[in-house]
Amino acid sequence: MQYTEVMVRYGELSTKGKNRKDFIGRLAGNITRLLNDFPEIEIHPKHDRLHIVLNGASFEKIDNRLKRVFGIQTYSPTVKVERDIEAVKKTALELMQATFKDGMTFKVNTRRSDHEFEYDTNQMNEMIGDYLFDNMDNLKVKMKKPDLVLRIEVRKDAIYISNQLIKGAGGMPVGSAGKAVMMLSGGIDSPVASYLALKRGVDIEMVHFFSPPYTSDKALAKAKELAGILANYSGKINFIAVPFAEIQEQIKEKLPEGYLMTIQRRFMLRLADMIRAKRGGLAIFNGESVGQVASQTLESMAAINDVTTTPVIRPVATMDKTEIIKLAEDIGTFDLSIKPFEDCCTIFAPPRPKTKPKLEEARKLEARLDVDGLLQRAMDGIEVTPIYPNEKFLNDKAAEDAELL
Ligand code: ATP
Ligand code: MG
Repeated sequence: MQYTEVMVRYGELSTKGKNRKDFIGRLAGNITRLLNDFPEIEIHPKHDRLHIVLNGASFEKIDNRLKRVFGIQTYSPTVKVERDIEAVKKTALELMQATFKDGMTFKVNTRRSDHEFEYDTNQMNEMIGDYLFDNMDNLKVKMKKPDLVLRIEVRKDAIYISNQLIKGAGGMPVGSAGKAVMMLSGGIDSPVASYLALKRGVDIEMVHFFSPPYTSDKALAKAKELAGILANYSGKINFIAVPFAEIQEQIKEKLPEGYLMTIQRRFMLRLADMIRAKRGGLAIFNGESVGQVASQTLESMAAINDVTTTPVIRPVATMDKTEIIKLAEDIGTFDLSIKPFEDCCTIFAPPRPKTKPKLEEARKLEARLDVDGLLQRAMDGIEVTPIYPNEKFLNDKAAEDAELL
C-alpha cells in the first residue's frame, strides 16, 4: 500500500502553552533526526498532531523506528486523495483490502472540518460503506469497538483516509525532561532502567566503570553494545568509560573485606556525580532494585548514597526480577545482558559483603585512602564514545540476535 503520510498523535501532553510547544518541538526534532536518511520526508508539527509527509518513502521502512519514539501516543499511515468521492471509494477499498482479514468487523467514520463539501458525514459513511459491501465479501459492520475503523477526514485541501491506529511508545520526547547520567553495567537491570529514564524524556549519557586488566575487552564491548540497543530510543547515546582498577586495588589492599563493596560503590557514585556535574546533568540514574543483592538493601543504599545530595533515581527500585526480565526481553537487551563477561564488580566482589553496612564505619575506613587523588586519576582517564542505534562492538551470533531492526 502506498501511503502518502503518517498522522502522529501526541502522548501525555501538558496542555499549557509553553510546555506544549516545547514538547512538540522536541518531538519533531527527534523524529527528524531519526529519519534523516530519508531526505524526501517532510515533518510538519501542528498544535494537535504532527504530519510526516512521505513523498514516496515507504511507510513500512519507517514503521519500526516510529514505534520507539517516546512522546508518540498513536499514529496512522494515511492516504491523501483529491476531494472527489470516486477517489475516496477507490482508496477506501484498497486500504480495506490491504488490512481486512476474514472475521473482522469494521465501520466507516467520517469527519469534516470543511462543511462546504458536497456530502455530509452520514452520507459519506453510507456511500463508502455501501461501496465496500458491493466490492468485498464477508464484511461485518459493528458500531462499538470494531476491529477496523476506516477514518475519512474531509479537509479544505484534500481528503485523508486511514484504517490503522498503531500504538506508539508513549512517554515523553527524549530530552524534554533534561539531561542526566545513567550508571550502566553489563547486567540485566541497568539497561531496563535506562529505557525507563528515556521514556520519561530524560536524555541520558552512560557512565560505565571498567577495570582492565582484571576485566576483558569483551565486558566493555558488551556494555557499549547494550548502549547501542538503547540508542534506538534516542538516536545517539554518549558512552563514558571510567577506569576503575586502581580504586579497586587500593580498596582491596587497605580495607577490610566486609566493606569492599560499600566503599567501591561510594566511589562509583562520587565519580558518576563528578561526570554529571561536568556534563551539565541534573540527576543520576541506576539499575538498583530494593533488596535484590547485598549492595541494594536500604541500609546499603543509605551508606552509599551518603556521598552526594544529587537526586539518585532508581527506575526499577520496586520491580521484581521477573518483571525486569520481561521488560528486558521486550526491549531486546536480555540476550546480550546474560552473556557471561564478568564486569568490574563481579571480579572484586567479596564472598560475604555486609548487607547492613554502617555509614559511620564506611566513612571512617574510607579516610585511610587518598580519596581525592584516586578520583582525580579516574576522571583523567575517562573516554567518551558516541554510540548509534544497533552499533556492534561484539561480533557474534547472540549479539546479532539481540538486534532490533
Ligand atoms: P545490573 O543487572 O544492572 O548490573 P545488578 O543487579 O547486577 O544490576 P549490581 O551489579 O549490584 O546490580 O549493580 C547495581 C547498579 O549499579 C547497576 O544497575 C548499575 O546501575 C550500577 N553499576 C554496577 N556496576 C556498574 C559498572 N561496572 N558501571 C556502571 N554502573 C554500574
Ligand atoms: Mg551488575
